[in-house]
Amino acid sequence: MIRVTENFRKIQDLLAKAAAEAGREPGTIRLLAVSKKKPVEAVLQAVSAGQRDFGENFVQEALQKMDEAGRDDLIWHFIGHLQTNKTRPVAERFHWVHTVDRLKIAERLSRQRPHYAGDLNVCIQVNIDSEAAKAGVAPADLPQLAQAVAELPALKLRGLMCMPAVRPDFEGQRQPFASMRELKDSLEESGISLDTLSMGMTADYRAAIHEGATIVRIGTALFGERQ
Ligand SMILES: *Cc1c(COP(=O)(O)O)cnc(C)c1O
Repeated sequence: MIRVTENFRKIQDLLAKAAAEAGREPGTIRLLAVSKKKPVEAVLQAVSAGQRDFGENFVQEALQKMDEAGRDDLIWHFIGHLQTNKTRPVAERFHWVHTVDRLKIAERLSRQRPHYAGDLNVCIQVNIDSEAAKAGVAPADLPQLAQAVAELPALKLRGLMCMPAVRPDFEGQRQPFASMRELKDSLEESGISLDTLSMGMTADYRAAIHEGATIVRIGTALFGERQ
């Protein structure tokens, strides 16, 4: 049995410590608990510890967990790779999508978002290290995509998300996150207002917080290793 409650307290402390080191208010960093491949019991333990934001990568697994959790006060973030044939349930059931990386997906989400649900919060995923095997828009194509997504009616473009290549050391980890911050700044200079940088996971959240992350996506440190 993983001690979710204890892990939560530990992570909250570590995030606060990283924020302090970076000269930031802890309240400006939102913890997204990544519950993929973990049972609903783990989610509910996290809820008892005060957590409300949960990240899921797989549509069917997530929908089942939402139903099993049976609560209407949780905020669900889709953080997996999104295929065009899976956009409808995501548009209907999630509050955030972090992984928009092409216009076609954004258009479908906008069209399929139910009116009663309000705007769907989205981040554009950037392939910040230009890795062939990774999803995300190329940095050079970001301005055009961001402009187009920002104009879609049922979406609210909140910011940018990334999953950089693995780097062993803190200074190395900071580099792609710094590039993300610069991309966000330059979009804002062009008139697109953004309030979110979704970056940092168990292995690199400290570096991400130092470079301005507003959402850190933590799985392993909260729920233990995944099978
Ligand atoms: C799995 C996953 C995470 C969490 O990773 P950990 O290393 O377990 O903290 C964060 N973001 C995305 C997009 C993921 O797929």
